Amino acid sequence: MTAEEVLKQVFGYDRFREGQRYLIDALAGGRDALGILPTGGGKSLCYQVPALMRDDGITVVISPLISLMKDQVMALKARGVAAAYLNSTLTPSQLALANERAMRGQYRIIYVAPERLKTPSFRQLAEAQRIRLLAVDEAHCVSQWGQDFRPDYLGIGEFLESLPERPVLGAFTATATEAVRRDIIRLLKMRSPTSITTGFDRPNLYFGVRKVEQAEKENALEELLGRYREQSVIVYCSSRKTVDRLAELLKTRGWAAAAYHAGLPEDIRREAQEAFTADRVRVMVATCAFGMGIDKPDVRCVIHYNMPRSPEAYYQEAGRAGRDGKPGECVLLCAPNDVAAARYVLMNSEPNPALTPQQQAFIRKQDLVRLESMERYTETGACLRQHLIRYFGQKAPAECGNCSSCLRKQKTRPALPFRPKGRPRMDLSGIVPGATVWHQRFGEGRIESIDPDKHRMTVIFAHDTKQFAYPDALYSAYLTAEKPGKL
Ligand SMILES: [Zn+2]
Repeated sequence: MTAEEVLKQVFGYDRFREGQRYLIDALAGGRDALGILPTGGGKSLCYQVPALMRDDGITVVISPLISLMKDQVMALKARGVAAAYLNSTLTPSQLALANERAMRGQYRIIYVAPERLKTPSFRQLAEAQRIRLLAVDEAHCVSQWGQDFRPDYLGIGEFLESLPERPVLGAFTATATEAVRRDIIRLLKMRSPTSITTGFDRPNLYFGVRKVEQAEKENALEELLGRYREQSVIVYCSSRKTVDRLAELLKTRGWAAAAYHAGLPEDIRREAQEAFTADRVRVMVATCAFGMGIDKPDVRCVIHYNMPRSPEAYYQEAGRAGRDGKPGECVLLCAPNDVAAARYVLMNSEPNPALTPQQQAFIRKQDLVRLESMERYTETGACLRQHLIRYFGQKAPAECGNCSSCLRKQKTRPALPFRPKGRPRMDLSGIVPGATVWHQRFGEGRIESIDPDKHRMTVIFAHDTKQFAYPDALYSAYLTAEKPGKL
């Protein structure tokens, strides 16, 4: 089957998303590929489609995320694909059965946790069956420069070389700095891979830092939530204790809120997640444990109540807003002591016993470097989007026009020469949804909506949808309601 036929017949989609086709062509053509695709950007199709284009051989997917594995296998089975996972959640008899079926070549796609590669039964399987494609998900875990280093990932390169016939290798991750990217290629022993990074910038997301006193945080949170009544919001906290406390507080104040963290029983977590997906719960108060494998497109706002530990964590969690492409808001609430508190947690965290003391020291140092980057994020007067995007080694313009730094600058920027001081305040009567405006960088646009209560307006340009402060942005040099050059 061709890639299009698999896409249509198995997955029911008509078109590939950005970058997918490029990676699929490489893998199907026998070339290693490294894909850096945002969460929700369709990473899994990049290996599932080539896995199903041929009838022979199996695809092995290595993933550290056990719950995600299960979800993906269930989804594949529902589409009629013979798939299985081999991990520690299976009972010995289930595992034996899955192994036996795998040995008979009954599966097309097998998901395994990285530690499984070393086991004799898996080695046996790898020799008996031809692995045509090896896909490494969360590939940043191989690097000590990454945020989730897993020593088991270091065995992948060796496993690959031990196979009778080397499969094509695909590596995927949502976030990777330049150092991590280099490590992925080197440590997984990739052979001149085709590489692509897509969708890194999310123009529909507004990024904001809001400085508040510790005592004012709860009020600031409620004020933000007040803008999103009847809409879905995630509030991330750094500790389970804060999650429990805030969720309770919000519930007593009448919010449809729920708590989610790894300390809660599995059925409670599942219930909370389902209620959020079905819009019975509007505010999900959670630790970083929430979000993996959850694909809710219409989350309108992601609030960080505490300082995230790294730009990687922040960008991934904030990126759960606005997956549907409509405007989303990502706000970091920051109190004076937050950075020190985050640093304390980091310095006093239990080191991973699987690591050598040198590895532990190295990782602690990297953790601090990442936290310092977050600290600068809260301090910078420069564009927040630029700060994040450049951190990941991508190019970004100096100003985005859609973050708290850029909007602040627009407010304080002197007016355009053709709107001299003393000119009467702008007549706003023509500034209505549907009206045309011009932006210095984005060109001509149409006002999609205005919300005077939130001081926000949304403008659709030829390539992007942007939010601006209303009416402030119209007084800036950047956005104008009169066609430039006319005056
Ligand atoms: Zn900006």
